[in-house]
Amino acid sequence: MVNESAQGAAGVMCPGCGGSSVRTVEQARAEQKAGEKAGGKAGEKADWRSGGKPERGSLADRLAVSPGATDSFDSFMHFLEGMVFTGLGVGLAYTGVQQDKPLYTIGGVLLAVLLFVGTIVVIRGEARERVVVPRGELRAERLWRAGYYCSGCESVFCPDGSQWQGTLTPEQFKKLMWTEAGYADRLAHDDKAKEATVPAEALSRTGGPHRHV
Ligand SMILES: [Zn+2]
Repeated sequence: MVNESAQGAAGVMCPGCGGSSVRTVEQARAEQKAGEKAGGKAGEKADWRSGGKPERGSLADRLAVSPGATDSFDSFMHFLEGMVFTGLGVGLAYTGVQQDKPLYTIGGVLLAVLLFVGTIVVIRGEARERVVVPRGELRAERLWRAGYYCSGCESVFCPDGSQWQGTLTPEQFKKLMWTEAGYADRLAHDDKAKEATVPAEALSRTGGPHRHV
């Protein structure tokens, strides 16, 4: 707490509470991560791309730039998993045929079809994510880098008002970033940011097609 104002945020005051315990959003994220990992390297470079998905509800999650995209390898593994379970359905159907148990056959076929279709839907969604997320991330990152986080009143603000005006809750900030980036529909159903409403005045500087959220 003592050194917070000396960590690159000297002279910046929170417009919400007037406090000086502010850090850039980038630093807040880095410190949170260092705290999570016992023995985490101090001064580790802040990079929101590293370290996987943060825990739901953690500060890093509340200030997350993007949902992250499932990489091709993980998608391939999901495909393999789906095919293994589909194979189990096929095996069940085969057993039904061999042992003359129609219920096994019908159940096995239904299971196999459902799992096969489900797998394809998941893989396609992940492929779409790999296109949509990186395209919007740069816009979200612009807001993220401009943001300061006040631990006194848990608000995010942009000191010079160049990106948005006033203070936002972390949830409103996340909603703003994800909306600007075009992937607000990827907010998880249990993410409080999904229900957050970004104040219209905060959007007056960001412009763009998403300004009326
Ligand atoms: Zn404050």
